[in-house]
Amino acid sequence: MSHDCIIIGGGPAGLSAAVYAARAQLHPLIIEGEASSAGGQLMLTTHVENYPGFSSILGPDLIKNLRDHATKFGTKFVTEDVVSVDFSQRPFTLHTASGNVYSAKTVIIATGARVRMLGLESERQLLGKGVSTCATCDAFFYKNKEVIIIGGGDTAMEEALVLAKFASHIYVVHRRDTLRASKIMQERVKKNEKISFMWNTEVLDIYDPAVGKVTGVSLRNLQTQKVTQKKIDGVFLAIGHIPNTDLFTEELDVDPHGYIVTQGVTTSVPGVFACGDVQDPVYKQAITSAGTGCMAALDAERFLERS
Ligand code: NDP
Repeated sequence: MSHDCIIIGGGPAGLSAAVYAARAQLHPLIIEGEASSAGGQLMLTTHVENYPGFSSILGPDLIKNLRDHATKFGTKFVTEDVVSVDFSQRPFTLHTASGNVYSAKTVIIATGARVRMLGLESERQLLGKGVSTCATCDAFFYKNKEVIIIGGGDTAMEEALVLAKFASHIYVVHRRDTLRASKIMQERVKKNEKISFMWNTEVLDIYDPAVGKVTGVSLRNLQTQKVTQKKIDGVFLAIGHIPNTDLFTEELDVDPHGYIVTQGVTTSVPGVFACGDVQDPVYKQAITSAGTGCMAALDAERFLERS
């Protein structure tokens, strides 16, 4: 049996696509990957205060609401890792780690992206407790506090400017002495008196998992190798994202950073759509993921009507 619509990924993009696909009678099946990654990045956040309609909601609760909503209209879920796909002929074929083979007339890819992390144990322990991967989401909690942001790209600059509206001071910690960010973003940041740079510097450790919050960092100057400690209230990571596209790079066009290339939400293969962070290196918000999820379901419906 061939499904009308299979959605890979159960974050806000995939679940929103499911709500629309289910209401369009496409009987969507969500394959949401191993349980630990189901729900996507929102499962790792605490309070979400920028999802319209919810002035404050916990990330996992928002996912639960979306999931209940998709289920109510008939979405089916399976928790399995897709390990290979064949988009060369229709219906499309998906193989999972447990040996199941699924066939689909349309596929919506909503596998998201993961934040690039430094890889420190303390960073993992303090995530959501002073270590944040999203200034747009968390800056509000750092009113009159001192924070560092790690990275030298456009995201780091943009997030430093967001943080400057709340924090008393922001230190941009960058491993080189030149920024990767666009000139215009650099200028904006350099003009802001609340923001200063720590060049040629890396974060060696974050304190203090023992007290369950960020109290400081250990820094190394990469030119002098000198190690210093710095008191700080928050650590923001902006060292890039890694789109979850390993499965698709042979089948679909991806950009040099690995994001799926889309026109709207249509990929290079007709009938295969992509939504959310897997195709979005710029906005990366739950609400934009939900919006593109909706678009993908509407386009899948139209595709099925035409074919
Ligand atoms: P980028 O890949 O552009 O930048 C990542 C930054 O993190 C680099 O400065 C890099 O250093 C640094 N970095 C990477 N790994 C490590 C590490 N392990 N330790 C320390 N530092 C590290 O990612 P962005 O998220 O900033 O941007 C992604 C894309 O999105 C870009 O194309 C960007 O232009 C775009 N974007 C556009 C925006 C806009 O137009 N408003 C806003 C945000 C993003 P190094 O420079 O040494 O490699």
